[in-house]
Amino acid sequence: NTFAEIDLGEALNKNIRRCKYVKPTPIQRHAIPISLSGRDLMACAQTGSGKTAAFCFPIISGIMRGQPLQQRPPRGVRTVYPLALVLSPTRELSMQIHEETRKFAYQTGVRVVVAYGGAPINQQLRDLERGVDILVATPGRLVDLLERARVSLQMIRYLALDEADRMLDMGFEPQIRKIVEQMDMPPPGARQTMLFSATFPKEIQRLASDFLSNYVFLTV
Ligand code: AMP
Repeated sequence: NTFAEIDLGEALNKNIRRCKYVKPTPIQRHAIPISLSGRDLMACAQTGSGKTAAFCFPIISGIMRGQPLQQRPPRGVRTVYPLALVLSPTRELSMQIHEETRKFAYQTGVRVVVAYGGAPINQQLRDLERGVDILVATPGRLVDLLERARVSLQMIRYLALDEADRMLDMGFEPQIRKIVEQMDMPPPGARQTMLFSATFPKEIQRLASDFLSNYVFLTV
C-alpha cells in the first residue's frame, strides 16, 4: 500500500514523492479513500498520526478536480471566498497545518493562507487579498475576519475541524457554530466535512451529528 496507488492527481502525487512520503500512515490509508469518495468523516486521531495529510490531501485533490480556480480578486474587492476551511485550536497548530498543506499544494495553483489570533491582523489581511483557496484558521480570528467581511464562507466545499476536542476545551464552541452557520447557504450535501478528535465525549458527538451528514466513523 503506497501513495502511488491512490489517485490524488499527478501534481499532488509528485509533491508527495518530493516530500518522500511513500507509505500512508494507518489514518491516511483509511481516511483518504473515504474522503475522496465524497463521504463525511469523523476520525479518531492523535498528534503524530499523520492526520494533517489525511485531510489536506483530499482537499487539495478535490479542489484541483473541481471548478476552475478563482482569479485573484479584482482591485478594490476585499472579500475573499475560500473553497476549503481548516479550523484548528491554536496558532502553533495552524502554522504547522499551513506549512504541511503548502508543501503539498506546491505548483498546483491551490493557494493556502493561514490566519490566527495573538498576532497582528494586517499581514494576514494582505495574504488574504492575494487570494485563497484553502484557509487555515483559529476560530476567534476567523470570526473577526467574517465580521470585517474580509472572508465569506459561501463557497466552502470542504471543512476540516482539527483537534475538535481541544477546540471545545478552549471554549470555541460558540465561534465554531457561528462559523459553520455561515456555510449553510449551498445546497445540502455540497459541503464535505471532516472532523478529527483525539477523544469522543458527548459534546463531540453532538458536533458530529450537527455538522456531518451520513458520516463514516473511523478509529485507527
Ligand atoms: P501529523 O500527525 O499530521 O502532525 O504528522 C506527524 C509528522 O509525520 C509530520 O512531520 C508529517 O510530515 C509526517 N508524516 C505524515 N504522514 C507521513 C507519511 N505518510 N510518511 C512520512 N511522514 C509522514
